[in-house]
Amino acid sequence: MHDTINQAVKKIKASRSLVFLTGAGVSVPSGIPDYRSLSGVYQGIAAPEYLLSHTCLKEEPDKFYAFVKKLYHPSARPNIIHEQIAALEKEKYVTVVSQNIDGLHQAAGSQNIVNFHGSLYHCYCQNCGETVPVAEYLKSDKHFCGGQIRPDIVLYEEALDEQNVSKSIQAIATADAIVVVGTSLKVYPFSGLIQYQAPNAELIVINQEPLYLNYPHLMVTEKAEVVFKKISNKENH
Ligand SMILES: [Zn+2]
Repeated sequence: MHDTINQAVKKIKASRSLVFLTGAGVSVPSGIPDYRSLSGVYQGIAAPEYLLSHTCLKEEPDKFYAFVKKLYHPSARPNIIHEQIAALEKEKYVTVVSQNIDGLHQAAGSQNIVNFHGSLYHCYCQNCGETVPVAEYLKSDKHFCGGQIRPDIVLYEEALDEQNVSKSIQAIATADAIVVVGTSLKVYPFSGLIQYQAPNAELIVINQEPLYLNYPHLMVTEKAEVVFKKISNKENH
């Protein structure tokens, strides 16, 4: 086990161009639960996939608003994973492609980020298109123009931002190491991104549960914060 951690740390430190593909497991140490675990609140009523769908936003806006508000954790702070990824950006060419919508990579100082599923911290009115401060949205989802405010996140049934997709693919195709962190890569098309890696690129997976992929990879079955503590350790240089 420690052996795979050390191997992963060495490979990350040796690389010059990295892409981090991050998921819910990166936010858990900041106290943000995976939204799927919130469905308990609504037990028997609806699946989180429905509550975060375009249909729910349109047909049952109150239900959508009540659920989406539970995803906000304005007092959450970046943890060692976010911080170390941001620190690596000072030494290497780093792109973060995140499924997370919580804004914590930005809060940690990462600059080169693709928010693959959007961000909760950008809200706008669906009627007039005006940007609305998050604090206002958390008080009410009704805009003064009469329109409904929503966060700029990709809901189920909605299309991904094409620019985000092409930027992700380009970063992956030119990286010498791809590091999957805190995600089981079950959500398509995010999960399909690794197929664009260069032939000689290293693929490293850091996740609490092992992943079975069709590509050779180094599997580190460990909490990501344990591995990133090692990366921060100067003695490993
Ligand atoms: Zn409006």
